[in-house]
Amino acid sequence: MPFLGGRELRAAFARAEHEGFAFTANNVTEPNVLLGLMDAATKARSDLVVQISGGAAKYAGGGDKLTGLRALCRTVHELAERCPVGVFLNLDHFTVDDMALLREAITDRLVSSLMIDASQHSFDDNVRISREVAELANGSGILVEAELGKIKGVEDEIASDEAFTTDPDEAVEFVRASGADLLAVSVGTQHGVSKGKSLSLRTDLVREIHQRLRDASLEAPLVLHGSSGLLPEQVREVIRLGIRKLNKDTHYQYVYGRTACEYFLEHASSILPPEGVEDDVLNLFADSEWSPDKKRFDPRAVGRLIQERVSEIAAELIAQVGSGGHSIVESQEATDA
Ligand SMILES: [Zn+2]
Repeated sequence: MPFLGGRELRAAFARAEHEGFAFTANNVTEPNVLLGLMDAATKARSDLVVQISGGAAKYAGGGDKLTGLRALCRTVHELAERCPVGVFLNLDHFTVDDMALLREAITDRLVSSLMIDASQHSFDDNVRISREVAELANGSGILVEAELGKIKGVEDEIASDEAFTTDPDEAVEFVRASGADLLAVSVGTQHGVSKGKSLSLRTDLVREIHQRLRDASLEAPLVLHGSSGLLPEQVREVIRLGIRKLNKDTHYQYVYGRTACEYFLEHASSILPPEGVEDDVLNLFADSEWSPDKKRFDPRAVGRLIQERVSEIAAELIAQVGSGGHSIVESQEATDA
């Protein structure tokens, strides 16, 4: 299935709204996490939303954001070709400093949606900046996600010490004035590692914002950032009340680090020279009886394990949000047949 654009993503969100489920939106920086996510989505027959942050693009481009963005997008596009479910690509937390890059992403149809985060600015400036991006995207089909309110914690290049929850009255005005297609709300979650049970999650605000937008005939799926720490019952509750996209990054980062940590601890003696053996990386221990074990230090050995573990956790998260068995590809094929 070729990578799908914004028009199909809009249809996928409409279906989620109608049928009461949500999508996880999953950050990727490198191929192992991406392949693990695709494996889980394929097995669950769920469409997949992957996203790239500005920091991830910069990292993947060796310091150059645009190069990294193109490289990562291309990897996603190519791998999507052999995925039987729909694969969507979002840009996560891009800012007013990224305008040139956003313009390129839109012109070259690199993505299905993109987020402009001007939530650190005043309400009026937030509207103006988000509006500018919505106008750039106009006609491309690419959806624009904007944020109202501030989410506590550190997300990549964006850090906020304080949290300001989203005001339901302002939400309607904001969506109408900015032309945003999706609205990221601040309702008590935090970026990074957080404990769901100690968050004061404002589910009342989710319900109210969702209802007010509906009353105003504004179809803007609600997005929850910083949702990695939420307990399964909290996830189900926010989806019941109207959240359609839950951003997930920290889970995969932890699974990645944890898997690599366990693997290298287990196989340390096959990789690190034992005591008494002179360290000789350059000649690969040519003068010693001892040799490191290639089948253990080959990056693909730990990489395959990371893919498997990411797939396992992604499967759990897909089950939580209920997107399995709802791929728009299958319904499209059924319509075509
Ligand atoms: Zn976020």
